[in-house]
Amino acid sequence: MLTVRSLLDDAWYERYKRISHLNIRSSIYDVTDRCNLRCKGCFFFSSDEHRAAREETDLGAWEKFIDRERARGVNLAILIGGEPTLYLDRVEAFYRRLPTYCATNGLLKVPRDRFPDMMLGISLWGDEDDERELRGRDTFAVSSRHYAGDPLTYYLYTITPRQVGRVERMTRRIRDVGLKVHYQLLSNDEGAEGFNWESSRLDDLRHELDGLLERYPETVVSARYYHEVLTTGRLFGRPFGWDECPSVTETMDTRQPRPKRLIRFVRWASDLRTTHRCCTSATRDCSTCKDGAAHMSWIMVNKHAHLRSARDLRNWIEVYEMFAKLYRLLPW
Ligand code: SF4
Ligand code: SF4
Repeated sequence: MLTVRSLLDDAWYERYKRISHLNIRSSIYDVTDRCNLRCKGCFFFSSDEHRAAREETDLGAWEKFIDRERARGVNLAILIGGEPTLYLDRVEAFYRRLPTYCATNGLLKVPRDRFPDMMLGISLWGDEDDERELRGRDTFAVSSRHYAGDPLTYYLYTITPRQVGRVERMTRRIRDVGLKVHYQLLSNDEGAEGFNWESSRLDDLRHELDGLLERYPETVVSARYYHEVLTTGRLFGRPFGWDECPSVTETMDTRQPRPKRLIRFVRWASDLRTTHRCCTSATRDCSTCKDGAAHMSWIMVNKHAHLRSARDLRNWIEVYEMFAKLYRLLPW
């Protein structure tokens, strides 16, 4: 029988041991329904998730809720929105109780004296032209000024089809301001013209991302296997989609048979009672979903399928390590 130990040499086995005890139990929280941008294709607004619930405004209610989440076994809080930094008191309530990651568009600066070791992921949707077209302004000009050189901040670069062949320029600019980058793909939830994916573009992109990972290893936080699964949407021949998605809210998951999934995962709306279907848009057609985190988790929850060769298991370990770095569970 193939076991983890039999497939790995000592060095890889040490890497495996480092991640095997992490036992991640993450959930996602809408900190607010408001945002200081309105990006074309934002899954939150385009699926009306900002109207799903009336935002809780009592900080004490947030604190009690977070304590209940901790008791439920959550050990990683992923804060999204809207724009979480509009309500730093709520962010702080998480930060003081749980390992916390905060997604932001970077337009407001999170004070490091208040949040010295919170990991931040800044959203970026391409170069200046794409950002102006899709988000109404060049956010990089502002966010890079706020966070240059910050050791616990990275760009979450959502690549659009128009960026294929041009990802290096923004990667270099990110490197030049002393930050790191992780890539994911636009799902184009609002059907912006010229922003739909064709499979040949995805193929090209996969090779482009592999090259960037090789040339900018200090800047790019990624893995070749992640590029493969994300751009092909396949894992051992199985297509990504509703039947396979690991990032469905556990209490809303009625699928039979139930696929491998994130244990105890819930995506909470900002009233702290309502839940959303999954980690992203409640109305997205799952067969078109390009969500990077969901693909990453898809690989991670399917560990046993990767026990068929040393190469498969090493791929799995690299993706797990990537996830752990992005959420500050391992150092860069
Ligand atoms: S910054 Fe984020 S939350 Fe705000 S509109 Fe853009 S994608 Fe949506
Ligand atoms: S939209 Fe994406 S993340 Fe949400 S359930 Fe469908 S496949 Fe999963």
